[in-house]
Amino acid sequence: MSDIIQLLPDHVANQIAAGEVVQRPASVVKELLENAIDAQSSRVNLLIKDAGKTLIQVSDNGVGMSPTDARLSFERHATSKIKAAEDLFQLKTKGFRGEALASIAAIAHIDLKTKNAEAETGTEIVIKGSEVVSQEPCVTLQGTVVSVKNLFFNIPARRNFLKSDNVEKRHIIDEFQRVALAHPQIAFSLHHNGNSLFELPVSNRRQRIVNVFGSKTNEKLVPVEEETELVKIKGFIGKPEFAKRSKGEQFFFVNNRFIKSGYLHRAVTLAYEGLLGDRKHPAYFLYLEVDAQSIDINIHPTKTEIKFDDEHAIFAILRSAVKHSLGQFNVTPSLDFKRDSNLDTPYNYKNKSPEIPKIEVDRTFNPFQHNSHSIPKPSAPSPTSFRPKPRQPEWESLYTGLDTPTDNELPSVEFESEAVTGELFSPEESFTHSGVFQLQKKYIVSALKSGMLVIDQHRAHCRILYEEFLKNITVKASLSQQLLFPLVLHFSSRETQMLREIRDSLEQTGFDFAEINEEEVKISGIPSMISESEVTVILDNVMADLQQGIPENEHKSTQRLAQTLAESTAVKAGVSMTEAEQLSIINRLFACKESSVTPRNEHVFIQLDADELAKKF
Ligand code: ADP
Ligand code: MG
Repeated sequence: MSDIIQLLPDHVANQIAAGEVVQRPASVVKELLENAIDAQSSRVNLLIKDAGKTLIQVSDNGVGMSPTDARLSFERHATSKIKAAEDLFQLKTKGFRGEALASIAAIAHIDLKTKNAEAETGTEIVIKGSEVVSQEPCVTLQGTVVSVKNLFFNIPARRNFLKSDNVEKRHIIDEFQRVALAHPQIAFSLHHNGNSLFELPVSNRRQRIVNVFGSKTNEKLVPVEEETELVKIKGFIGKPEFAKRSKGEQFFFVNNRFIKSGYLHRAVTLAYEGLLGDRKHPAYFLYLEVDAQSIDINIHPTKTEIKFDDEHAIFAILRSAVKHSLGQFNVTPSLDFKRDSNLDTPYNYKNKSPEIPKIEVDRTFNPFQHNSHSIPKPSAPSPTSFRPKPRQPEWESLYTGLDTPTDNELPSVEFESEAVTGELFSPEESFTHSGVFQLQKKYIVSALKSGMLVIDQHRAHCRILYEEFLKNITVKASLSQQLLFPLVLHFSSRETQMLREIRDSLEQTGFDFAEINEEEVKISGIPSMISESEVTVILDNVMADLQQGIPENEHKSTQRLAQTLAESTAVKAGVSMTEAEQLSIINRLFACKESSVTPRNEHVFIQLDADELAKKF
């Protein structure tokens, strides 16, 4: 058999390389912005059309290129940034692989205009799919303008794989923000389809963060500063009370390069331990400086992952630096304001020694023996029977625990450690005549003919609201409660962008957006089932979920929106419910299309048969 191995032609090799470097328009944006920074520019403008599918243009006022360099820059492994392998460990530039321009040229139409300080005229090169169409002198200012058009024109599969304009645009904004945050000493702008999205003047780091994420960000930041031989850490972390459910504002920069690191992320979150609510994420903008020799950036084509020589030490230093800032800026004690006053000891218990609670159980008691609705009367003579405390009027409950309970007032069976208030059943937990009661403010227990049903109140309400929201979004618009004064909320421009994307669906559920501006949203109406105070949290949750991944299709995204709205609106564990509310949950739950599981497929209730119960006795 004859020899079959051959060297691939350059344009094919470039297309293959492009597969790694250029995944979507945002990857082109990243490479071009980095080239502009490496060219020592002080101003960089980014212009996008149709989320980069039609045009991505980066213009800079950097050093520019000579005509020969301009031509060479499109060759593979052509770079001015390193000369030998040793240089890989002394990197001061963003780029070094000499691959970006060659890769982009293989899969798009490029027009490059450039002029350096020495030349009188500039050079313009047009390349289509790795082929140089023309190279001519041109009139241009010092610096470089690279225009990338018709991305993936020769790889239809890639082009079709691109997501909607809104999604691609969001990726571009992400890349732009990362580069802009790393280089506050450079002015940046971003225009999309003629609209100015960002105009960032030269500034310091803090101002840059505020300019990118909105003026409200300033008050949320706490500075971090730590200097050791191994690493210098500077930057800002978000105060815990502003933590959000979205992971959006989390940035690590190492030697001014944005990087992703699950490991360092963990160091930061550990420092916040105990300070954040459930599923909340802190914001952070942390700039690490290490010796260029102690890291390897060349482990991933997009250069967003790096390897540290001394990862463990950096982890420990980072964690303690963040912890120190949280403490030093008095961020930690402010949490006391949120202390649950229910945990306070009533006056007359202060000087008492704690008593060990007695547990006496009436083993002969079977709630199903008689009529399932029957409740042992408080007057029942047996000392070991259930004796629920009579329901107290609301005002009397204010004094709970102030009077010394006498022995015969103390019930003899204790379910949970309510010893502090001296109360066995809180009024909300009392048995009711409907055969329904609330347990631990978490479950609704209902007697059935054949046994009993224990319903998770939050999950049940989730299922009910999910079906209602889904119906509202897809079939009929729901009622909106108009607000007397419009609610003005502040978001980052990225978030308002997302809100615009889902505005229609949200309005179907009852939201009424008067205006969605760059960083401000005016809401004039909200769904009837939510209260004004919940709006921020709910929208925050909705956006956090959107960020977690892009739903495959419209149907899925509607389901997700309904699910998020339901989860954030549903009654939580720990909330006491009136008897009427408990009954309403039960009735509405069993009117649902699917009542046994939540939209996330978790059990909503369990059923205990009388037989099973009997076995336990
Ligand atoms: P790398 O950045 O890894 O060197 P690129 O393919 O991105 O590889 O760029 C190749 C070369 O082209 C760079 O090394 C640089 O010399 C030159 N170049 C690219 N963009 C610019 C620019 N905006 N201004 C000046 N020179 C540039
Ligand atoms: Mg480059």
